This record gives sequence, C-alpha cells and structure tokens, in this order.
Amino acid sequence: MQASSLSGKTYFIRTFGCQMNLHDSERVSGMLDSCGCLEVAGPEDADIVVFMTCCVREAADTRLYGQCSSCKSLPAPPGGKRVIAVGGCIAQRDGAGLLTNLDNVDVIFGTHSIAHVAELIEEAFADGGRHVRCEETDLEPATSMPWHRAENYRAWVPIMTGCNNFCSYCIVPYVRGREKSRPFEQIVDEVRGLVRSGVREVTLLGQNVNSYGRDLFGEPRFAELLRHVGDTGIERIFFTSSHPKDLLPETIDAMAEVPAVMPQLHLAVQSGSTRILKLMNRKYTREAYLDLIDRVRDRIPDIALSTDIIVGFPGETEEDFEQTLSLAEQVGYAQAFTFIYSKRDGTPAAKIDDPTPREVILERFNRLVKVIEDSAFAYNQGALGRRVPALIEGTSKKDPSRLLGKSPWNQTVHAPVPDGIEAADLVGKIVDVDVDVARTWYLSGTVVGSPR
Ligand code: SAM
Ligand code: SF4
Repeated sequence: MQASSLSGKTYFIRTFGCQMNLHDSERVSGMLDSCGCLEVAGPEDADIVVFMTCCVREAADTRLYGQCSSCKSLPAPPGGKRVIAVGGCIAQRDGAGLLTNLDNVDVIFGTHSIAHVAELIEEAFADGGRHVRCEETDLEPATSMPWHRAENYRAWVPIMTGCNNFCSYCIVPYVRGREKSRPFEQIVDEVRGLVRSGVREVTLLGQNVNSYGRDLFGEPRFAELLRHVGDTGIERIFFTSSHPKDLLPETIDAMAEVPAVMPQLHLAVQSGSTRILKLMNRKYTREAYLDLIDRVRDRIPDIALSTDIIVGFPGETEEDFEQTLSLAEQVGYAQAFTFIYSKRDGTPAAKIDDPTPREVILERFNRLVKVIEDSAFAYNQGALGRRVPALIEGTSKKDPSRLLGKSPWNQTVHAPVPDGIEAADLVGKIVDVDVDVARTWYLSGTVVGSPR
C-alpha cells in the first residue's frame, strides 16, 4: 500500500451504465483501497463520493444532476469534509463544463484518467479547490491498475477499450476513444491469476470483442484469445459485446470447441430493416445477420442468443419497425435489451429530423417488448425437466430462502436453499438444479446432489 493522505478516509461509488463502467469503478475502488481508504455502503458515511456516469442515453445523463444535488443534504462525513468526484463518460464528454451546473462537485476525471483519480482527490482535500483531468492523451491504461473485485468467484476482464465503429446514433467512440487492445499474454496471465485465486467465471469485455487484436496484429485474434483463455482452467467464459460484422467463422468454431465458452452469444442487431441498418452505419444487412445466426446455430444448436435493439431511430417507418419485429420473431432471442432512440448531440443521427410522434414510438416499443417476452418465455421452456448447473450468486432479494444462480445459458435460476445448508456457503459454488418451472425471466427447481 502506498503512503497517501487519503489513508483512513471512507468512500462510496455509484455507477451508472454498462459493464465497462462497472469495471472502471472496480479500478477506482482498487486505487482508493491501495491508498488505505475504506469502502462504505452509502454516501452518508463517505468522505469521498464518486459517481461513474454514462451518457449513452439521455436518461442516464440527467440522473447525475439529481444524484449530485442530493449529496448537499447529506449529514457531515466522518472526516469532516466530503469530496465529490465525477468520472465516466459524461465527465469525459463535458469536462470542466460540468463544474458550472454541479456546484458541489470537486473533482472531474475522464475515462482515460482513472489512474489519476487518487491524486486529484488528494489535491481537492488539500487545497479545497476544484480539479479536472479529462485529457484524451492520458494513456496509462486503467487495465494495468489495481482493482477491487466485488465477488471472488467471477470477474470482468477488459480485453480492449474504445470503439472504431461510429454507429451513427452512438456517443461511445467520442467519449471512449479508438479501439485499443490489451496485450494478449497480459489477458491470459490475468485469467490464470484469477483462476489461482478461485475465480470460476470470467466475462471478457470490450465494445466489439470480435475485433480484439486488430490494432496489435493487423488482424483480429479473438478466436485465438478464446482458446488460450479456455486453456487457463477457467470454468466459464462469457464475452460481450460482439459486433455482427466482425464475428468470424473461426470465432464460432472456438465457441463450439472450447468447453469453457458458455453457449451464450450477445449479438446486437439494433434493427431488422436493412434501410435503417445502413443509416445506423452498422455495415451488415438483415439477411447477413440472419445468415450469421444460422451459422452460429449450426455449430451450437442450443445457443442462447441475446441482442440490443433500438426503436425510433430517426425516420424509422412502420414498415422498418415491422422488419425488426419479424427478425426478432424469427431469431427467437432468449433475452434482449430494448431501447428507445435517444438523440446524442455530436453524432450524425442527431442531425436527422424525425417527424414520428412519440406515442407511435412508444407503442412500437411496447409491441417489441411483447415479442421479446414471448421468445424469452419460449426459450426457457426448453429447460423444463432438465438438470441445469447453476453458479450461485446469493439469494433472491425478495425471498432469502431461495438461491439465485446463473445457468451456462445466462438464465437466472432459483431454488430453495437445501435443508441444513447456509445460503452464504453456496455462493460461488455450482449446484445442479432440476428445473420444474420456466418463466419469462427465470427458471426454478430443486437442488440435487452436492455443490462443487
Ligand atoms: N458496443 C456495443 C455493441 O455494439 O453491441 C454496445 C454498447 S452501447 C453502450 C449499448 C447499447 O446501447 C447499444 O447496443 C445500443 O442498442 C444502445 N444505444 C447506443 N446509443 C444509443 C442511443 N443514442 N439511443 C438509444 N440506444 C442507444
Ligand atoms: Fe456504439 Fe456501435 Fe461502438 Fe457499439 S459498436 S459502442 S453501438 S459505436
């Protein structure tokens, strides 16, 4: 642990947005832990409050303002002075501009500046000033910093940062910069170390994992990475996100052949209309996407497919939307994240006028949600009567007598805690569950045999 004036201070981090942000928060925690700080459960007990922000959609953007101003009414912190820091995508996008509207914020640090968070907070405590660091040239990768994992049995492993795709609606490439892959051996070594420390499941993270390695080797090496990570002894590998235009046949082969790669694939489609896909700059057609799905299913017949879909892209017509509905019906997703288009200033799509009334977009959104619910329900029926291995994460929030775990197909699995066993002792263990109930968003059944 390095000597730091932050030693003994308490901190609390609230994270908005995607897994990449959640993992960045683990890096911020790791930095603060290494300075001798102590994490607490709520902002009221914290000397340091950190907000990790997201600007992918407007809703996440506006929430930051409410959160920061609610800090004003908190009781005084244990150390007498509270420093509020804002990181993540909004910090990177707006930089010092945020200080005007957020008058109680002391530190702003961008997505490339996580390595500097502790020194910025130290300075704010020392001089009472406001400190901002959002340089795009801060290249010390967050991925080489200490991190603090929330759980000891599973971990996120970023394999690359940034994105080169510039989908026309999306702000991510502007706030996260260009694709930058981590060194191959560093990733494999990290997973080896995680396995040694008892981790059983990793999720490889990137905005477009399929192009992993293109910047290092001149060509993608994701399939090779999957095989090497599979050789570390890790029991379960998930990965996200996968861009359909870059999903290569050798990656599908690796998914089918590496036993630890779970039969689950998140393949964001965004729209089922080739016309809209072109306007979105997605670089594939409806037909190419469906063909890809067929090829994946040929190799991995029970694959659980999930996706992201945007409803209400500017100029989307009823006919375009119906193409999305029919694609979703045809694919039969096990899960989908559905979003209403949110205009992001600075992106090409923000310049396209849209005459479509909000009620029409909402009505379409609800129709899509219904199709997804039906396909998720149908997918889960396939587990009825089967024995499913579930990695136990804890108990259900609503009912502590029920275990909550995850199947290899990324399904939530519930089961009563077996008699004579403490639920806490099963966290991180894999138990077999005989499934007798299959609902839209979960399976339920009875634990059989011994946990392992
Ligand atoms: N890189 C990932 C991919 O392409 O699959 C996605 C990352 S993005 C954080 C997650 C999802 O947010 C996207 O797949 C898209 O569906 C959605 N999204 C991005 N920009 C959006 C916008 N302006 N409005 C609504 N949804 C948006
Ligand atoms: Fe955004 Fe497209 Fe990059 Fe995903 S691939 S982060 S949607 S620009």
